[in-house]
Amino acid sequence: MAVIKGIPIVLSGPSGVGKGTVIQSLLESRPELLLSISMTTRSPRPNERDGVDYYFVNRARFDEAIERNELVEWAAVYHHYYGTPKQELQSNFERGRDVILDIDVQGAASVRNLYEDSVLVFLLPPSLEELKRRLYSRQKGTEDDLEHRIAEYKREIRFLGIYDYVIVNERVDQAVSDLYSIIAANRLLRKRGESMWRANHIPEP
Ligand code: 5GP
Repeated sequence: MAVIKGIPIVLSGPSGVGKGTVIQSLLESRPELLLSISMTTRSPRPNERDGVDYYFVNRARFDEAIERNELVEWAAVYHHYYGTPKQELQSNFERGRDVILDIDVQGAASVRNLYEDSVLVFLLPPSLEELKRRLYSRQKGTEDDLEHRIAEYKREIRFLGIYDYVIVNERVDQAVSDLYSIIAANRLLRKRGESMWRANHIPEP
């Protein structure tokens, strides 16, 4: 039986906007969706687990992954390296699973080049003030780090034009439902389902 091939659903947005919360909540309610687990050279935070949040590796292993062409894309973000492993992603697409990628603007641009039918979504904070408030209340990192994250946001926002959709994260439940609507509508695109409905639903002439 032919299936609709899966595609990458990229979700980008500044640190502190709540991407992680939105994604976790969506995955809990929609188990058919999957999350791509990136490889990174940064150290795990206290609540993070290897193989669940990221594959935590050293720089030598990361370089090896680049050399062996194991990554779909990779980028340096906040002084660390992050990359999307290829093999698992491809096999999930073949099995018809849409996969969410929590990656930055550089990664989004690379994914769009590689997968024409990818869907790019940017999550915006309600305001810059609110983003600062959320970052400060998380108290992750130093003052410098926070300043750096705000500067990074101002840089990233200039690439908004490459994204297909924008969601303002005022309320998590609304953002989750908006993201799911985008994914669901995309699965119903005529051209996306063509091989499936031609094989399974349309009689031979
Ligand atoms: P964090 O260190 O806070 O988990 O992530 C920092 C930034 O790196 C986030 O904007 C996140 O979306 C991005 N990121 C995480 N994994 C990847 C990846 O595999 N590729 C790219 N390009 N960016 C990533």
